[in-house]
Amino acid sequence: MTSEFGITKIKAREILDSRGNPTVEVDLKAGNIIKRALIPSGASTGSYEAVELRDGEKRYMGKGVLKAVNNVNNIIAKEIIGMDCRNQEELDNKMIELDGTKNKSVLGANAILGVSIAAVKVSARLMNIPLHERLAQLSGNKNEFIMPVPQMNVMNGGKHAGIENDTQEHMLMPIGAKNFTEAVRMCAETYHTLKGLLKQKFGAGGTNIADEGGFAPPIHSVEERLELMLKAVEQAGYAGQIKFALDPAASEFYKDGIYNIREKQMTSLEMVDFYKELIDKYGIISIEDGFAENDFEGFAAMTKEVGNRVQIVGDDLLVTNVERIEKALQTGACNSLLLKVNQVGTLTESIAAANLAFKNNWTVVVSHRSGETEDPFIADLVIGIGANQTKFGAPARSDRCAKYNELIRIEDSLGSAAKYSKLSFGN
Ligand code: PEP
Ligand code: MG
Repeated sequence: MTSEFGITKIKAREILDSRGNPTVEVDLKAGNIIKRALIPSGASTGSYEAVELRDGEKRYMGKGVLKAVNNVNNIIAKEIIGMDCRNQEELDNKMIELDGTKNKSVLGANAILGVSIAAVKVSARLMNIPLHERLAQLSGNKNEFIMPVPQMNVMNGGKHAGIENDTQEHMLMPIGAKNFTEAVRMCAETYHTLKGLLKQKFGAGGTNIADEGGFAPPIHSVEERLELMLKAVEQAGYAGQIKFALDPAASEFYKDGIYNIREKQMTSLEMVDFYKELIDKYGIISIEDGFAENDFEGFAAMTKEVGNRVQIVGDDLLVTNVERIEKALQTGACNSLLLKVNQVGTLTESIAAANLAFKNNWTVVVSHRSGETEDPFIADLVIGIGANQTKFGAPARSDRCAKYNELIRIEDSLGSAAKYSKLSFGN
């Protein structure tokens, strides 16, 4: 007889993500518990990410995921049913082995990750512990009660707003909040103040929003966006308490050795000077993907210049992959990992990436994708692995708020044990 932890059923299906594109969801059963995982999807994806399997057929403009769904239901399920859902590493390794490629291109990272996350949800429930506690067990984190500082993307540009040669994310970091729930309130108030400023300046069309819930007004420079954000922070009453972060997603505007931001053209070293000016003028404390995914030298020059006071985050550079992190460690390219579970495709590999970063005194920022779902899993993940920072988009739209709301609930459930993270940089 199989134990109550033995997996008895796995069922995947095709659903829609926040952009109205198809994505995979997986239901997994053990004992009398069924849990579900929904898989996100990027737009400004790094070329070293694990493969998100798409059908490439007529339906959904080629974006259907029925092959990935079929891989779960007819290939993965056969091997995984009967295994103990508590053996996360064994489950994940089994799927990696079954796929047999380095980038999960046979079964699809979207198929594999759905099973990986659904399994940990079921094991937590059967063990009768909160999901974040189960994730802390798996990651070896002994200090699971740190509430993260959010990076909230209130101004969207670049690929997420349909603009060429543009910086992508302009974010609020409420470092002066006393707890996470207050941090959300401070950012939501600033978001609404910014909306008022944009309406005054551009009329109703200025408050249109893009993929991550941030505004996408007709603005032509990063400086103009930051000026408006600064004004919004001041008007909302949070001067000095909310700092800024940027994710230019520079791979998107890099060509033949040159960075093209709107009408500006710059080399890597000129980019370092450009960012330094922004840092000093606008109180920026974190810059992600300020350089293209293969420009380790540009990243390293930046880290050397400002890495002692500014967080330099690798997203497309690192793709949540331990080999890429090792290379960044050797070259001194950055001091922070952006962690996106679907870039690598299993929970076990995501935890290994985070732990390698922690071991080298890097920070870790747990991130959503621009195409999201209502699944709040990454909220539990950030607490579980002790990552201390999140990047979940604007404080608007249910795909983004689902994560903030889950963290508000976790903070409430922890009571006085919850501590708001104190950052080691940007002071
Ligand atoms: C990002 O670049 O950090 C991001 C969230 O965008 P995407 O999901 O499109 O890669
Ligand atoms: Mg990024």
